[in-house]
Amino acid sequence: MNLKLILVGLAAAAMLLPVGAALPPVDFPLEHLLPTDFTCEQGAHTTSFPDPTHPDLIVNVHIQCPDPNPGMILDTDCTGTSWSHWIGPIKAPWTYTYDTTNPFGFSQSAVNSAWSSSSTVWEAATSPATNIFDGFVNGGTGANSGTYDSFVLAEFRLLGGQLRNAVGVQWAWQGSGADAGKIIHTDAAYNTRYAFALGAEANKYDLQSVASHEMGHGYGLGHSNTAASSACLTLYPYATLNAIHGRTLGDGDLTSIQNRY
Ligand SMILES: [Zn+2]
Repeated sequence: MNLKLILVGLAAAAMLLPVGAALPPVDFPLEHLLPTDFTCEQGAHTTSFPDPTHPDLIVNVHIQCPDPNPGMILDTDCTGTSWSHWIGPIKAPWTYTYDTTNPFGFSQSAVNSAWSSSSTVWEAATSPATNIFDGFVNGGTGANSGTYDSFVLAEFRLLGGQLRNAVGVQWAWQGSGADAGKIIHTDAAYNTRYAFALGAEANKYDLQSVASHEMGHGYGLGHSNTAASSACLTLYPYATLNAIHGRTLGDGDLTSIQNRY
């Protein structure tokens, strides 16, 4: 190919990818293994399957779906509720890697604070306090959530495919052999398709509330039931717009974490 043809080709490619265009949504290798009915629109929240790249590992996928009834939360403590859905114990304390890059204008320290607080609310509920969240480091840029690798990652992504309508997603890998059933790796992603806020704001999801839910999975807990009476629980499988009650644990959340730690 001569130089002229190469230049014409490069010019055509540049026209297809204009500078500054929004990045396309990202999907994940594991996404193609999700059951076809695993979408928020179909009422799905939880699934698990062997990781084909690590066949001895089971990966659990939990999606937190959009608010189905904006403005409907009345009881913010879920007084008197109890539930317990247990994925499995966590193998070891671990350090999260935070990629705080976001399109919302949140500072790195604000995101760090929201994500760290979402972990400590669970640990503070136990006595003695558990030590699974062992701090964080910044620098996850370039790492990928939804892959079994060396990064226990939290990041913002524009989710694609079947995950496109999830507000947040948490992956948890369970080991085999001596680690059978134990969660040995986890990642979280926050979907930039939705508007997040650092507090209660109209038509936005409070980052710390959504993260408190995702971190609950990081402690081995599953979802609560989907009854409206459970809507105030942090591990209710739907996020709530313009609300921060998810930052604190409802009665059923407390019962579930305290039964295990
Ligand atoms: Zn969830």
